[in-house]
Amino acid sequence: MKNMEKHHRFSLWYVLIAIWGVLLLNNLIVTSYGPKNLPYSEFLTRLQAGDITEVSITGDVIAGAMKATGKDGENDATQEFVTRRVDTDLSNELAKHNVVFRAQPESTFLRDILSWIVPILLFFGIWYFMMQRLNPGQGVMAFGKNKARVYAEKDIETRFSDVAGCDEAKTELEEIVDYLKTPERFQRLGGQMPKGVLLVGPPGTGKTLLARAVAGEAQVPFFSISGSEFVEMFVGVGAARVRELFVQAKEKAPCIIFIDELDAIGKSRSGAIVGGHDEREQTLNQLLVEMDGFDPRVGVIIMAATNRPETLDPALLRAGRFDRQVLVDRPDVIGREQILRVHAKKVALAPEVDLSIIARKTPGFSGADLANAINEAALLAARKDKDAVGMDDLEEAVDRIMGGLEKKNRVINPQEKKVVAYHEAGHAIVATFTPGADAVHKISIVPRGIGALGWTQQLPTEDRYLMTQTELLGKIDVLLGGRAAERLVFGDVSTGAHNDLQRATDIAMAMVTEYGMGQTLGQATYPRQNRPVFLSADQSGLAGREYSEATAARVDAEVKTILETAYERVTALLTGHMAVLDRVAGELLEREVLDETEFKALLGDAPPTAAA
Ligand code: ADP
Ligand code: MG
Ligand code: ZN
Repeated sequence: MKNMEKHHRFSLWYVLIAIWGVLLLNNLIVTSYGPKNLPYSEFLTRLQAGDITEVSITGDVIAGAMKATGKDGENDATQEFVTRRVDTDLSNELAKHNVVFRAQPESTFLRDILSWIVPILLFFGIWYFMMQRLNPGQGVMAFGKNKARVYAEKDIETRFSDVAGCDEAKTELEEIVDYLKTPERFQRLGGQMPKGVLLVGPPGTGKTLLARAVAGEAQVPFFSISGSEFVEMFVGVGAARVRELFVQAKEKAPCIIFIDELDAIGKSRSGAIVGGHDEREQTLNQLLVEMDGFDPRVGVIIMAATNRPETLDPALLRAGRFDRQVLVDRPDVIGREQILRVHAKKVALAPEVDLSIIARKTPGFSGADLANAINEAALLAARKDKDAVGMDDLEEAVDRIMGGLEKKNRVINPQEKKVVAYHEAGHAIVATFTPGADAVHKISIVPRGIGALGWTQQLPTEDRYLMTQTELLGKIDVLLGGRAAERLVFGDVSTGAHNDLQRATDIAMAMVTEYGMGQTLGQATYPRQNRPVFLSADQSGLAGREYSEATAARVDAEVKTILETAYERVTALLTGHMAVLDRVAGELLEREVLDETEFKALLGDAPPTAAA
């Protein structure tokens, strides 16, 4: 890339040198073969002497013919000359000496060249130069189709063994590898493979790495392009690229197309400002057209990665497009140790180094952060002229990276971690002992996404179309379980429950205003209307609700009662299961993630009522 840029900077010089060369040449021709350049004074002298025979005046340039004063004595010969007029009144003088003279309209030819052609040349030169800078490696004329050329990488060396700690994602992707290796096996029964697989997860968790590993494992060509590369300066280029990409991929099938940073082109179209980014939209539309248009049997799998799935256009996620999504999350403590192990292979480690200790110290680190830590430690050790990377180097490196991450609010300190552990354990225990609540599937205190510090996943045991009042109350209980546990254990509450409270309030509100489940308001609904802001502005008071202020107050009171009763119920429940709460929280602090069986094992002899 470096060389190329150099080369392109030179080509601007070529243009400038060419222009300068032409001017110089022109000058040279004029001076050596043109008329004799006469000083004006000499012209006057020769005029007085009667040597001038003919003159034509163009502006203040006088060109003409005079008797040559050759030393060989050929006096009849004439010589052409040119001079610049200094005084203005010349005609009398000329007439006196019988000179044929005429005035000519000023020739503007040369000036035209200078004032038009040169700026145009310059403009094109600069434009050419800029084009080269923006799209290195492409000629100016190659702008349409050729610009869209995308090259496939073959023989990728990345393997699944290079990706550690995201076993679930790997398991899901193994199926894709199998398919790419032997498509016939899957097509035998008429089944279709997914066209698109979307890798979703925070930055640095190994999405790009995983996509490469799929190509490496399957040994197929890998077309990779980043979403931001699609979005070009000129409308239509992105769409042309997409087209070209698919044409080439079909030629090379079976293969993988990988679109990194899909959100750069896949942003929701409706979200754009009116008349917004046409180019991006065209590219996105073309991508949708291509994805719909190709036959999955040709063996092209489209993979994409994003860390902002919520901004994607819903059309991308529809069936037949990126309908399969693979979550690539931040690693838990075991995953972190494995990742450290993968990257430690590249450096010389001292024998006393225990990577599991480092893993335990780095909650919230992504794979990229961990790789970075190993590298940083190796640099630190090298600076100290050590033979191997020691434990102190690793810890120092971790501290440094932690400092950077803390600024981005991505690292939780031990006390916070404890609060989060009790909070999540609270959710899980309330879910277990509340009749009708969904079974706990997984509990984690590994930060996920942007806001959540931990999460408890419940899976319904069956599909439900109706919910009873008891079940809705159960949901509220589970949501409040986190905060109640914090209050019981620490005597204080944190902001971590914000989302829980909001959801609990929403459910309680719906119970009162939509499902007629309140105590005093009877079997009626109290619609809350979501009118557009500009409508409600002039009729405030009317627009928000269609019931009176007094009723509104009663709704609020009802909601409050539901939530308060629930909170008391949950506190009582947790107080009765303090031992289990401590056990689960303690184990969470140690392991960070608990699955269903591990969690059940911790419950001991207390019988979970949820199973009933
Ligand atoms: P993403 O695409 O999710 O932002 P990358 O795949 O680009 O992340 O990861 C950046 C680097 O971090 C990788 O090249 C690799 O060195 C390291 N890395 C990230 N996740 C893992 C992992 N799970 N196992 C091993 N290395 C990882
Ligand atoms: Mg990436
Ligand atoms: Zn919570």
